Amino acid sequence: MVNRKKPETAKGEKTDIKSLTLQELREEMAARGEKAFRAAQMYEWMHVKMARSFDEMTNLSKAFREDCESRYMYTALQAVRVQESKLDGTRKFLFALSDGNVVESVWMKYKHGNSVCISSQVGCRMGCRFCASTLDGLERNLTPSEMLDQVYAITLLTGERVSNVVVMGTGEPLDNYHNLLVFLQMLTDENGLHISQRNVTVSTCGLVPEIRRLAGEKLQITLALSLHAVTDEKRRRIMPIANRYSISELMEACEYYFTQTGRRITLEYSLAAGVNDGEEDAMGLVRLAKPLHCHVNLIPINPVKECGFSRTQLSQVRTFQNILEKNEINGTIRREMGRDIDGACGQLRRKNMSGLRDIGGNEAC
Ligand code: SAH
Repeated sequence: MVNRKKPETAKGEKTDIKSLTLQELREEMAARGEKAFRAAQMYEWMHVKMARSFDEMTNLSKAFREDCESRYMYTALQAVRVQESKLDGTRKFLFALSDGNVVESVWMKYKHGNSVCISSQVGCRMGCRFCASTLDGLERNLTPSEMLDQVYAITLLTGERVSNVVVMGTGEPLDNYHNLLVFLQMLTDENGLHISQRNVTVSTCGLVPEIRRLAGEKLQITLALSLHAVTDEKRRRIMPIANRYSISELMEACEYYFTQTGRRITLEYSLAAGVNDGEEDAMGLVRLAKPLHCHVNLIPINPVKECGFSRTQLSQVRTFQNILEKNEINGTIRREMGRDIDGACGQLRRKNMSGLRDIGGNEAC
């Protein structure tokens, strides 16, 4: 699925062994003159048993493990903070990366299985006006291993299998396209955790060329589009990306995604009081959603102090939802998980950066 000549590592850095696909690991081991089964053995340690170091790989000789230690970088996350919701058991993790940056991930328990929401970048450069993750800009992309590590660390810490993965935490996944694709390949690989592609959702603010490129990969994942406004003028006011791509270009790209993959898009629509929650907004959403036959997720906005938006009252959210339903559009009000912990994207990380002082806003996104 993914074609690349060399694993992506910064200049002078050791190869990030956990970001190598099985095929790349086979080539690496062959180049070192190792036996053919060595790659499969190591891949299983890293991606099934979720070993946190070479030391844990006890069926490999000590000399071989030490040699690996000197040749490769082996990523593993350290949980620096965990918050658990008393209301629904949702857990929010703040993980330290090897360079000292931190990312957040969320674990949610549903009747149909456990879901993990992961971050794809440290920070974000998309600049959506309501979002805490973008307030300090983009620090760097996450590697495939660092995205996988969030799923592995949570599996180990909770002791429970993860069945669904949503790439909806901090960052714009399609702005880290190559690493995202390697991550998706490895996450769903039958030699790894083997999570079904249908149980994976990638959420984007709407990078049109990358949506089209992703369509060509013919994956069975769900693509969620963060729409949040139904006219270009209004969308530009809350999402700078709308200055680059119009809603009609976006809708064409979504239609293309559907025709290429057969997978329906989900539209994400966060409701901010007096901004995008009126009757005309609902009708506009109907017009956009109908030809795409898509599902709409309605999310009352999580107020972030610095951003100045306030959430739509639940009664108005229901009115909005009724308009969708009367017009045969399926709209779900997203169940808010972890209302009592710092659930909104990027808030826990920012709190950590500012020495854990309260930055306001306290609900899950
Ligand atoms: N960059 C991607 C994924 C990360 S954000 C995207 O834009 O889709 C995940 C979702 O949370 C997006 O729909 C985003 O618009 C939304 N979101 C961010 N901050 C929010 C907030 N304060 N309240 C409600 N939704 C928010």
